[in-house]
Parts: sequence; C-alpha cells; structure tokens
Amino acid sequence: MQAVPPLQFNSFSESLIPAVQALVAVPLRFDVSGSSLTTFAIGGALRGVVTVDTVQELVHVLALLHREGQPVRVLGNGSNVLVSDAGLNEWIVKLGAGLKRIEVDGSRFEVFGAASLMSFARRASDDGFSGLEFAAGIPASIGGAVFMNAGAHGAEISSRVALVRGVMEDGLLCEWKRDELPWRYRFSGLPVGAMVTSVVLDLVQGDKETIARKCSENLAARRATQPLALPSAGSVFKNPSPQRPAGMILEALGMKGHVIGGAAVSDLHANWIVNPKREGTARDVLALIELCRQKARAEGGIELEPEVKIWTSRASTNSDNK
Ligand SMILES: Cc1cc2nc3c(=O)[nH]c(=O)nc-3n(C[C@H](O)[C@H](O)[C@H](O)COP(=O)(O)OP(=O)(O)OC[C@H]3O[C@@H](n4cnc5c(N)ncnc54)[C@H](O)[C@@H]3O)c2cc1C
Repeated sequence: MQAVPPLQFNSFSESLIPAVQALVAVPLRFDVSGSSLTTFAIGGALRGVVTVDTVQELVHVLALLHREGQPVRVLGNGSNVLVSDAGLNEWIVKLGAGLKRIEVDGSRFEVFGAASLMSFARRASDDGFSGLEFAAGIPASIGGAVFMNAGAHGAEISSRVALVRGVMEDGLLCEWKRDELPWRYRFSGLPVGAMVTSVVLDLVQGDKETIARKCSENLAARRATQPLALPSAGSVFKNPSPQRPAGMILEALGMKGHVIGGAAVSDLHANWIVNPKREGTARDVLALIELCRQKARAEGGIELEPEVKIWTSRASTNSDNK
C-alpha cells in the first residue's frame, strides 16, 4: 500500500466557502460522488469541488487554501484514482473548460491541463504529427498524463515533453524543463502538491497514413486484451519489469475472474480490476488489491506496487507523487 502521511492539515472548513467561491467563476459543488468523477465509478462524497478556468484562478485558490491549512488535491479525468467509500472531507480542484486550450507553434504544442490526451493525440495524428501514437485509448487529462508519466506500447509522454508549467500548493507559478524532472516509469517526480496547468510537447512531422495506422494498431491491441467497456482504472499495479508484466504474474497465480463483492479481476486482463455492474465499493477493490499482493508475495516472492492512486481521507494533501 502507499504510505499514508500523518495528518498535518485542518479539516475542510465550511467558513471558507464564500471566500473560495469569490475567486472562481464556476459555482462550487458540494458532496459530489467520487463515482461520478472517476472511471472506476466508485467512491463516496467529495466535500468540495472547485473548478478553475484560468491559471490565475488556480493561483488564488491555492494561495488561500494553503494559507488556511486546507487539504487540497487535484483530480484530472479520474482514470487512475480510487476514491474511498467514506469520501473525502477535502477540497478537490478540477481544471475547467478554460484550461483545455491548445496553442500551436510549428511542431511545438502547448496543451493545457484539462485537455483530453486522447483527443489531442487524435488531432496530432490527423494533422500528421508523430509522437503520441501510444496514447490512443488512454482516457487521461493532459495534467494527469504528465503527473503519472502515462505510457503504453514502450513509449511515455515524458519523451515528448519540453516544458511543464504548473502551480505549487502555495500558489507559486512554476515551470520545469524536461530534464529538470526525474521521470521514470509512471512517475514524473513533480514536487508534492504541484498542479500541472500546461505542458509544451515537441512532436515530429511524419507521414499521416503511417501515424494513423500505428494508432489503429495500438487501439486494436488494447481492444483485444483490455476490458475497455467496463468501469476500471486501467492497470492496477505497476509492472515489476517490462519482461514481467503484473498481468502475466497475476494470471499465472490464477487471479483472472476472481470476484470480491461487486469488483472483479478482469477475465481478459489479470492486472485490471473492473466494476462490471457499477455496484463495487472501494473496500471490494482494496480487498482484491491486497489479495493480489499477498499471493504475488507469498507464491512468487514479488512485491506488486499499486499504480492506481488510492484516495483516503487521511492523505491530506496532493501527495500522490512518491
Ligand atoms: C481504460 C483505461 C486505460 C488506461 N490505459 C493506460 C495506459 O495505457 N497507460 C497509462 O499510463 N495509464 C493508463 N490508464 C490510467 C490513467 O488513464 C492514467 O494514469 C492517466 O495518466 C490518469 O490521468 P487522469 O487525468 O485521469 O488523472 P487522475 O486519475 O484524475 O489523477 C491521477 C493522479 O494524477 C494527479 N493529477 C491529475 N491531474 C493533475 C494535474 N493537472 N496536475 C498534477 N497532478 C494531477 C492526481 O492528483 C492523481 O494523483 C488507463 C485507465 C483506463 C481507465
């Protein structure tokens, strides 16, 4: 399991609601079900959801909440998060429609954090730009993809990143050149609490047909091996190595199709946990995760590390990058 840092923050303060609302154009939302904001379709109520439409709004909101010692996290497209059944008594920041912009300068693209990785990858392919063929089928926001260093088919988004722009948890504007971050597999190394507002990507002009064919092949490979029609968060565990993918290890341990409550290890891919009837709970998923880990440890001597971010109330800041 991911280590849970000690509770260092005040709990969600109702009295700050008017001050936070005064900083943003979009109405705040309260007690939003985690299941409605995540692809797992699981999770209890998120106490306060703040949608920011500009970088300036984000700066002001973070500065205020930081000053007041409030617990804050950023949620992208919710495709790699498991929200606890009890929900979170915290401020959840969402990047809004104003931060879906894309600015183009030749083969250099500044893509804002709320933009869809898949849509941008499709647009790049249609326009004959190569470099994001791997992203076909990854339901990420750009911010979440950068934070997670999303990847597939042997490629990762970090290889295309020139610059990451973001805001620190105290509201300070920051930027990192590609080489200033310690990228590795499913890890960007962004400082704890940093929120990505945009990324500058360098793509390469290529042959449209070749690029489109590669995207189609990648999508077809996904459809053949992944339960894309069911609620999930994609791969649950990181691959211990490219030669020993977690799915292969768990399949050999007989985990395919194992059910706990409303959640199941997919019978198509043993590294995917699915919520087929949308009746699963975080407790069910966590029990499956624990069972997989125990079996891998006891029967294979392998320590499986969750890739999915598990959001429980006690992790009191956006501290997933560890
Ligand atoms: C069907 C399916 C297929 C998938 N296939 C792949 C795959 O092939 N490869 C792969 O790598 N992943 C895959 N995933 C997992 C997931 O899509 C990626 O991890 C993705 O990068 C998460 O992006 P998100 O916007 O949904 O982030 P979220 O799930 O919302 O958040 C994930 C983490 O990123 C942080 N975060 C989100 N936005 C920001 C931001 N703007 N700034 C800073 N931190 C932020 C969150 O706080 C959280 O810690 C798949 C998931 C599904 C459901």
